[in-house]
Amino acid sequence: MFQRRYAVRDGVLAALDAPLLVIHGGAGVEPGDLTREEEQAARAALEAALRAGHARLKAGGSSVDAVAATITVLEDAPQFNAGRGAVFTHDGRNELDTSIMDGATGKAGAAAGLHRVKNPITLARAIMDRSRHVMMVGEGAETFAQEQGVALVDPSYFRTEKRWQQLQKALQEESTAKEVGARLVLAGKAYFGTVGALALDAQGRLAAGTSTGGMTNKRYGRVGDAPILGAGTWADARCAVSGTGWGEFYIRAAAAHEICARVRLAGQGIVRASEGVINGDIPKAGGDGGAIALDAQGVAAFPFNTGGMYRGWIGADGVPHVAIYRDDALPLPAY
Ligand code: ASP
Repeated sequence: MFQRRYAVRDGVLAALDAPLLVIHGGAGVEPGDLTREEEQAARAALEAALRAGHARLKAGGSSVDAVAATITVLEDAPQFNAGRGAVFTHDGRNELDTSIMDGATGKAGAAAGLHRVKNPITLARAIMDRSRHVMMVGEGAETFAQEQGVALVDPSYFRTEKRWQQLQKALQEESTAKEVGARLVLAGKAYFGTVGALALDAQGRLAAGTSTGGMTNKRYGRVGDAPILGAGTWADARCAVSGTGWGEFYIRAAAAHEICARVRLAGQGIVRASEGVINGDIPKAGGDGGAIALDAQGVAAFPFNTGGMYRGWIGADGVPHVAIYRDDALPLPAY
């Protein structure tokens, strides 16, 4: 049985819906982008990921266990830009970035520039739990994965036709664009479907994780915000965040940490803090995207400034709630 917890919010004593798991499958999806079948498949994958994480929490697993289990399901789903289905770099490869952070201990693991790790989040966790390091990149990270028994695959595993076509379109647009370098993909979709998860377990511990293929047409060697702790991922005792969007802006804003700093130091609520960074600072600087944020009282926020963001949550009752577009209603966790 999950323990029920209570808190006073706005002068009202409210039951919290803990444990709680919150996910995103990336910002950037717009109405009209998906066929009916694609939309159904994406919703089903989001629900499956929520159920997988919930099963861990229900079995007494930690928030870190739940985050890793959830992200593994999303990485395996070709609908999202992480693991299988990752976007392509300028030179036609899939290059994966990831990170995980345990809010209770402050421990973290991250990896970037991966070409062969089937589930990058598993490697991030292995780096956190079984290495003396926090972040590893490229070949060295993959050698460590092999030593740790983390599954490796042939790079062709990550390839999907849809992503390949997105790269072709981006390359074509780039070659005809006047203002070279202003955006990685000019006049096109620059990102699509990074995945992230946040969990609050029955002991009140928070964790966060993020996994991505990055941005379509990125130069090889480019690293985005997803594996940078404090930019794309952050968790501490009070606040957890996973971001999705134009990574360069998230890195410059230290977006995930900035949200949690506003909670910790400025006394802001999670909704105000995350809205202020994602829908205030990031667009002001010229970027865009979204995030999920969760506090230790079980209050979740889903700010984004694109036409949609794959998102969802599951509470103690085990019923998944998912949404894609801006106008999709997503009932919020009770508090
Ligand atoms: N933030 C990711 C990156 O810049 C992309 C995304 O969220 O879709 O690598």
